[in-house]
Amino acid sequence: MRKPIIAGNWKMYKSFDEAIDFIDAIRNALPDKDKVDAVVCAPAIYLPALVVETEETALAIGAQNMHFENEGAFTGEISPAMLAGINVDYVILGHSERREMFNETDQAVNKKVRAALTNGIVPIICCGETLEEREAGSTAQKVAGQITAALAGFTAEEVAHMVLAYEPIWAIGTGKTATADDANETCGAIRSVVEELFGTETAAEVRIQYGGSVKPENIVELLSKEHIDGALVGGASLQADSYLKLLEAAANA
Ligand code: PGA
Repeated sequence: MRKPIIAGNWKMYKSFDEAIDFIDAIRNALPDKDKVDAVVCAPAIYLPALVVETEETALAIGAQNMHFENEGAFTGEISPAMLAGINVDYVILGHSERREMFNETDQAVNKKVRAALTNGIVPIICCGETLEEREAGSTAQKVAGQITAALAGFTAEEVAHMVLAYEPIWAIGTGKTATADDANETCGAIRSVVEELFGTETAAEVRIQYGGSVKPENIVELLSKEHIDGALVGGASLQADSYLKLLEAAANA
């Protein structure tokens, strides 16, 4: 059985004080680490403080992006070595907001995945289709292309420990969730791509999250589906109570 993983994606929200208050509000209510992996991906500037705040807890801290080089003349960027140096455990890569607004390409995502692994950071690799692509019936093709490109050059063993996230772009922050069956179908298509490229064992091990307007009201049904192993959550991860409800649902799934 794959352990569910719930990752909050705070995006560019919360003041520093609000971030610390959130951790204080959840620290004693986190479910057992054996039942669910709980992650919060926070704005980079808060990461050092949040890593220290969560040291003795079951909560892992992740970044929302990073460069693929460990150092260099890249004004404004943050490197994988810097994240690893302060004990950040996860990094979201290839989120659709970064692909659409910051020109992140499949090739850059692939390099970032390599850099994450080299530095001992678990990548959460995002893929997903636009509404136009869904209506044109090209969802499976789009995500297969993104996943194939992101995973190019890796071994089956490396891929088994990555996290993939299917996030239909039309469902992000819109309140429109894919139906649990639709989400499961595409997560299943992603698993088939992994199977073709890396074999049955790796496909059975790799965790695939669904993301896009996940909330306490729909998480149970999503997690009941065969290919959905967790969620990447924006809006509903911002409030301590709803984040805890998501974790609870995953721990009991
Ligand atoms: P949402 O965001 O849960 O607010 O739709 C999901 C995401 O962008 O990861």
